[in-house]
Amino acid sequence: MNSEAGFWWGLVVATLSGSVLAADPVRDADAEMFPAGVAYDAAIPTPEAFLGRPLGAAPVRHHELVDYITTIANMSDRLKLEIAGYTHERRPILFIIATSPGNHARLDEIRTQHNALTEPASGQEVSDSMPVVTWLNYGVHGAEASGMDASLPIVYHLAAAQGTRIENELANSVVLVTAVFNPDGHAQRVAWLDAYGSQVPNADPQHAEHDMHWQFARTNHYWFDLNRQWISVTQPESRAWMSKWYAWRPNVSVDFHEMGPNSTYYFHPGVPARTNPIIPAAAESLTAASVRFSEEFLDAEGKLYYHAEGFDTYFLGKGSGLPFVNGGIGILYEAAAARGIELQTPLGLRTYRENIRKHFRASLGMIRGALALRQQLLDYQKDFYDSALTEAAGDTVKAYVFATPGDDSRMYHFLDLLTWHRIQVYDLARDITVNGRAFAAGEAKIVPMGQPQYRMIRVIFERFTEFADPTFYDVSTWTYPLAYDLDYEALSGRNFQESLLAEQSAVAMPAAAAPDGPDYAYAFAWSDYYAPRALNRVLSAGLMARGALQPFSVRTSQGDMSFDRGTIVVPFDRQEKNPDEIKAIMESVAANDGVTVHSLTSGQSTIGTAGVNVGGRSFAELQQVKVLLIIGRDTDLYNAGEIWHLLDYRMQMAVSLHDRDRLDGIDWKQYTHLVFPGGEYENYMPDYVDRIRQWVAEGGTIIGIRQGAYWVRDNVLDYVEPVEGEALVPDEDLETGTGHDDLLDEEAIETERYDYADKQDIEAADLIRGAIFSGDLDITHPLGFGYSDRNIALHKNLSDIMERPVNPFATVISYQTPPVLSGFASQENQAAIEGTAALIAERKGSGSVILFADDPNFRATWFGTNKLFLNALFYSKAFQAPAE
Ligand SMILES: [Zn+2]
Repeated sequence: MNSEAGFWWGLVVATLSGSVLAADPVRDADAEMFPAGVAYDAAIPTPEAFLGRPLGAAPVRHHELVDYITTIANMSDRLKLEIAGYTHERRPILFIIATSPGNHARLDEIRTQHNALTEPASGQEVSDSMPVVTWLNYGVHGAEASGMDASLPIVYHLAAAQGTRIENELANSVVLVTAVFNPDGHAQRVAWLDAYGSQVPNADPQHAEHDMHWQFARTNHYWFDLNRQWISVTQPESRAWMSKWYAWRPNVSVDFHEMGPNSTYYFHPGVPARTNPIIPAAAESLTAASVRFSEEFLDAEGKLYYHAEGFDTYFLGKGSGLPFVNGGIGILYEAAAARGIELQTPLGLRTYRENIRKHFRASLGMIRGALALRQQLLDYQKDFYDSALTEAAGDTVKAYVFATPGDDSRMYHFLDLLTWHRIQVYDLARDITVNGRAFAAGEAKIVPMGQPQYRMIRVIFERFTEFADPTFYDVSTWTYPLAYDLDYEALSGRNFQESLLAEQSAVAMPAAAAPDGPDYAYAFAWSDYYAPRALNRVLSAGLMARGALQPFSVRTSQGDMSFDRGTIVVPFDRQEKNPDEIKAIMESVAANDGVTVHSLTSGQSTIGTAGVNVGGRSFAELQQVKVLLIIGRDTDLYNAGEIWHLLDYRMQMAVSLHDRDRLDGIDWKQYTHLVFPGGEYENYMPDYVDRIRQWVAEGGTIIGIRQGAYWVRDNVLDYVEPVEGEALVPDEDLETGTGHDDLLDEEAIETERYDYADKQDIEAADLIRGAIFSGDLDITHPLGFGYSDRNIALHKNLSDIMERPVNPFATVISYQTPPVLSGFASQENQAAIEGTAALIAERKGSGSVILFADDPNFRATWFGTNKLFLNALFYSKAFQAPAE
C-alpha cells in the first residue's frame, strides 16, 4: 500500500462494483488477470495486494514497480534481481533472472555454456540440460505504459505460480525480465495520467488524459527513441540493458509496445518481403512457431490480432531486429493503446487493464513458445555462428580497414561501438594502400570478417542499394563508417593477409599529455571530435581564443609544425589571466577533452614573409556562444533532443530550451544563437518575426534545420524562390509568347492515373525514409573547418529541395552526382536533389543565417557531421558576405 491508494481507491471500487459505471463486456472480459487453473503461493503478495488497487485502475509508478519487484525477488528463490544501470534521471533499470533454484545454483555455468554456442572455436554442443534463454523487455517506449505494468504480473507469476508446468518451464528456461527499459519516459507518462486522472474513468478521447504529447514520454530524457538504439548504444539506458543482453545472448527476445488505438493486436513475424537480407531464412519459421501460444490464447478469447502487415524486420537497431543478427529471434508485440485508463474508440471501449492482460498472457505464451522450441532454438543459435564462419570464408570482402586522421576521439567512439557488439578489432600491422587510399600502421584499425560476429560486421559496415520493397518502417540504411565519417575500405582476398592484424585494439578515450610551456601561446587542432568542447572550456574560463582562417606553420616546443584551418590559438597577449593560469586551463583541456595542446614558442610563420602570422588577420576572434534551442509541441523533439544531447551531454555546454510559441518578449540580447529544429512550420507565422530579423541584423546567428531551415530561409533570409516553370521553357519560346501556354498544356497532359491497389507502393517510393547521401563539402569555408576530405556522407530523410542560393560562396555543401551512397531514394528524388544545397551559410547584417537541409546530429550516431553543426556555432561569423 502507499499514500496514493486513497485517491485511486474510489475509482477502483467504482470500477469493480459497477456502482458508478454500468457493467461493460470489455471490463468483464478482462477481470481475471491470471490464467485459470494455476495455483499461486499465498505467501507472495499479488500486484493488486501490494499496490492496493487492481492492475489497470491507475498506472504503476516507477517506485512502486521497484518496491514490488524488490520485495518479491527477496521472497523467492526463483528470482535474482540486478540493477542493469541507471537512466539520465538516475532511475534504476531492473533486471530479473528467473529460473529454477537448481539452475540458480549453477547460473554461471549455464551462462558460460550458453554463450559458448556463439563461439564456434569452443566446440560447445547443445545438450539436454541446456535451458533456453528467453528475454522479456517492457517499456522501451515510456508512453506505451501497459507493457510496463505487465512486468508486475509476469514477475509475480514466475515467483509464485505452483505446479508442474511452471516447474518444468523454470527448470528448462532462463527467463530474463527487464522492467522497465525506459523509466524516465515512463515516469513522464505516469505523471501525466495521474495529473489528469479522475475518480470516474473518462473514456472521452478529447479529455486531456488521452492527449499527452507522445514524444515526451516515448523517449528518454534527451528525447531519444531508445528502440532505435540497439546498434548505436549512445544512451545510458540502452547501454544498461544491452550489457545484460550480450551477457546472456537470449534465444528469444520479446518487446512489448502499444500502437494507435484504432487497431487490434499485432505480433511478429513482420512483412516477409521487407525482412533484412542478412537475417538467415530459417529465422522466419522459428518466429512463426514461437508465437503460436499467443495465437491460441487470442483465438480462445475471440480477440482480433494480426501479423505480417505494417511492421517489418528490416531496420536492425530495434529490439525485434538486433536479435535476428545475433543468433536469436526478436518478437514485437503491439497493443492498441488505451491512452489512459479507458478510451472510447470507433472499435469500442479500450481499457488499460485489457492491454496489461494481453501483454502479460503473451509473455506467458512466449515463455512456453520458446520452451517448446528449446532444441531448435539452441541448434539454430549454434548453427548461426558456425555458418557465420562459413559465410565469411565465402565472402569476397575479407576485412575492413579504417582510420580517423587527426581525430582519436571519433576513433574511440567507433571502436567502442564495435567492441560493444563483440566484434574483434585489431591495430593495422603495417602501412597499406587500398584503392588509392593510404592507411598507416599505428593509426588505422582492421576488422577481419572471419569471426563469429561476421553478420554484425555486415550490419555495421555494409551499404544497401538494392531493395525488394521500397517501403520502410524506419530508415533504409545506417552504414556506420559513413555516419562516423571514417576513411575506410573493404579488403578483398587479394589484399588481405592475417599478417595485417597486430594486437587487438585497446578501447579507451584518448588522454592527451599535459602541454609544455608556458612559452608564447597555445594551439590545438580543430579536427578532434572534442575540440569544440575544449574551445568552450577555454572561452568559459574567460580566455580569448583565435581561430585560424588559413593554414599556418609556426615553431613549437616540439619543433616546427603546420596547422590546418580552424586551429584554435590561445595567446598570452591581453588575457586577464597570467601564463601559468592559462597553462592550467590548457592542462585541463588535454586531460578532460583528450585534445593535444601544443605550446607555440613564436608567433612568426616558419615559411617566410608570405606565411601566416599568429597575430595577423587570418585569424578570427571567437566568442563564447549562448544557444537558445527552440522546442515545443510542433517541433520535432527527436531533432531538438539530439542538439540538446550534443551540447549538454557531449560538449558540456549550457543550452537554453524555449517553447516556440512563447518567444515574444524574451531577452534576445542574452543569446548568440537561435536554433530552429525540424517540425511542423506550415502555420507558424508569429508576430515577433520582425524582432528575430532585427536580432539577426544586430549580430545574432539563426540556424534552421530540416523544416526549420525552410522557415528560416523564407522568413529571415529574404529568400526569393525561382519562378517555377520558367527555367523549363526555352528562351525562344518565351520570346514568341507561347511558352507559358505550352507549359500549362504539358502539365495537363502529365496528370497521372493509378490503380488504388498500388497507392501504398507508389507513395512509399516517393519517400526518403532515411538514406545516406554524398555531399561535396567546401573545407575552405569556416563551416567546413576540421574536415580534411571534401567528400562527406549525410543522413537525409526529407525529400524537399533546397536550391543553391545566388551567393556563389554560400553553398557550403552541395549534393553530389550520383547523390545516394546507401539506402533508398527514387530515381526522381535523386535527380531532383543532386547539385542542390545541403548546407547554406549567409551573412545578414551583422549576423548570420545557416540552413541545414537535413539533420547533422541524427540519433547521436552521426559523429561525422556533428562538427558541421558545432562550426555553425563557433565559426558562424568567421566568413564574409560577397563583395557588392
Ligand atoms: Zn513502441
